[in-house]
Amino acid sequence: MHKGSCYCGVVRFEVSGDLNPVQICHCGQCRKAQGGPFASNIPVTTDNFTITAGEDQLTSLESSSRPGKYRVFCQQCGSPIISRMDSRPDVVRLRAGTLDEPINQKIAHHQFVAFKAGWYQINDDAPQYDEYPPA
Ligand SMILES: [Zn+2]
Ligand SMILES: [Zn+2]
Repeated sequence: MHKGSCYCGVVRFEVSGDLNPVQICHCGQCRKAQGGPFASNIPVTTDNFTITAGEDQLTSLESSSRPGKYRVFCQQCGSPIISRMDSRPDVVRLRAGTLDEPINQKIAHHQFVAFKAGWYQINDDAPQYDEYPPA
C-alpha cells in the first residue's frame, strides 16, 4: 500500500499492490502540464487506485492533442494527480511525485526524448526512445 496527496493535501489517494516502474515523458505537452523538464508517470490499474479524500476537488482537462485523454488535477493547488484515457478505462497514469516517500521503483524508460528540454541532461541508464517505446 502506498499513499499520496496533492501539494495542499485536500486530495489524498492510496495505491494497493506493487508499484510499476516510473515512465518518464519528455514531450512538450507533459513539460507544460507539469512545469518541469518531464512528467513522471506510474501506470496503475483503477482497481488498485482509490481517492480517499477530496475527490470533489479534482478537475479534468481534456488534452488538446489527444482527444479522450484527460489530465486530472487538484483545483485548489493545481497539483497534477493522474491522467486517464477513455480508450483505457482500466488504468490511470499516476504522477509519481505525488506519492509519499519512500518509493523504491526505478525508471522504466524515457520517452519522447527527441522533444526533451535542452537544459535537462538525462543521467541514468534507463532506455531512451525518441517517441513512444516499442509496443
Ligand atoms: Zn491540492
Ligand atoms: Zn508526454
